[in-house]
Amino acid sequence: MIDKVHDESRQGEAFAATLPEGLLPQKHFYIESYGCAMNFADSEVVAAILMEHGYGATTQTELADLILVNTCSIREKAELTVRKRLTEFKQYKRAKPDLIVGVLGCMAERLKSKFLEEEKLVDIVVGPDAYRSLPALVAEANGGQKAVNVLLSRDETYADIAPIRLNSNGVNAFVSIMRGCNNMCSFCVVPFTRGRERSRDAYSIVQECKALFNDGYREVTLLGQNVDSYHFIDEKNNLEISFAKLMEMVAKISPMLRVRFSTSHPKDITDEVLFTMQQYENICNYIHLPVQSGSSRVLQMMNRTYSREWYIAKVNRIKELLPDCGLSTDMITGFCTETEEEHQESMSLMEYCKYDLAYMYFYSERPGTLAARRFEDDVPLETKKRRLQEMVALHRQHSLLSMQKDVGKTFKVLIEGVSKKSDEELYGRTDHNKVVIFPKANFKKGEYVMVKVDRCTAGTLFGQAIH
Ligand code: SAM
Ligand code: SF4
Repeated sequence: MIDKVHDESRQGEAFAATLPEGLLPQKHFYIESYGCAMNFADSEVVAAILMEHGYGATTQTELADLILVNTCSIREKAELTVRKRLTEFKQYKRAKPDLIVGVLGCMAERLKSKFLEEEKLVDIVVGPDAYRSLPALVAEANGGQKAVNVLLSRDETYADIAPIRLNSNGVNAFVSIMRGCNNMCSFCVVPFTRGRERSRDAYSIVQECKALFNDGYREVTLLGQNVDSYHFIDEKNNLEISFAKLMEMVAKISPMLRVRFSTSHPKDITDEVLFTMQQYENICNYIHLPVQSGSSRVLQMMNRTYSREWYIAKVNRIKELLPDCGLSTDMITGFCTETEEEHQESMSLMEYCKYDLAYMYFYSERPGTLAARRFEDDVPLETKKRRLQEMVALHRQHSLLSMQKDVGKTFKVLIEGVSKKSDEELYGRTDHNKVVIFPKANFKKGEYVMVKVDRCTAGTLFGQAIH
């Protein structure tokens, strides 16, 4: 099953956008994005800023006057991919000496001006809170000056910028509701690269979702590193808006608009959120609840602030209030000092939760994080990888089981487009975010259709539409 929030297939994707009518750009930018959905959403903000300044988007590197790479730092591999990609841009610079190459996002924030020293090809380095200054930085670079802005902000949310939807299927969109993170999970670089947590104005979020709905979109995913700690104070009306309240405001736009959200931190997801999910049919019955480890000792070292038992109680509560709720997770194998028994605890937790979907990684030490400073990265790489393989194999059984349980059932499917494999078939998603493929008939993208599932693979459901 493919989850759009962490979509491996989108890594390095280049963006195309349709220009507002009547605009004939003098210059073109090319932007490629890596990492999580937040980064992809940020690239849409960057596109809006650049288009406002007369740039057009291109998916052809050789046509670009400005090449941007929106980077990820979460694991070493993500950074290596970007470094390799940068070397490939050398040929374009050789062919077009006034081409500007810029690095955006988490790697820019982590490495700052060091990037300019290490990668001679790079002209500008821009952190996630400094995108408004991008046109000025490009102008500086055009004048021959390398330019850096990696200032983190306590209040930047880009609330007033209407993102330009890039590579959109016109059905689902990501909407950023907050930025940064105040948690200090010891393995994680995000608090250092994306700064303090801040919530975006609730009314600007609702407005963006309404505009999307009016443009034909039928699904929004509300994005934040920790959505359950969303908190906005409407000073004018003396109102406090929690995540549950915000979700309700978005759900009320129309029953035809599906609402998803990611990511929920187990310590912060409240009953209020679960009750709101119960109340609105268009809030999808699916929660991404990363656990990271099944061992209380490891969880403590990770600074996740909950124990195995606490997490299990949370899962039980979810199943009690939302018996049909889909559940997914993130897991890390081979964190500092993790023993074989503790790895087995992670496996048994997975057995207990039987996740519909799991993102599993082996631990990758990130410079500057609490874990890098405090603990030795002492689990050998082969052991980390072997544990990961075992976990992936176990999860494969669970995800197949989860798909098999759906055979024979009928689901409301939101159609996202024509199946990649056949023009005669459409694909869409269930409430639980599972991909369903079925014959095209007269159905169209953006419509809801009831589909009876008759078979499955580990990643896809197949069925027939019920007329
Ligand atoms: N804020 C979200 C949360 O707390 O679940 C997700 C943050 S991160 C972008 C996505 C996932 O990457 C994490 O849940 C974690 O499993 C994984 N991750 C983060 N740092 C890592 C590291 N140093 N090594 C391996 N995996 C890591
Ligand atoms: Fe990283 Fe933890 Fe924040 Fe998620 S909650 S972004 S894992 S620090």
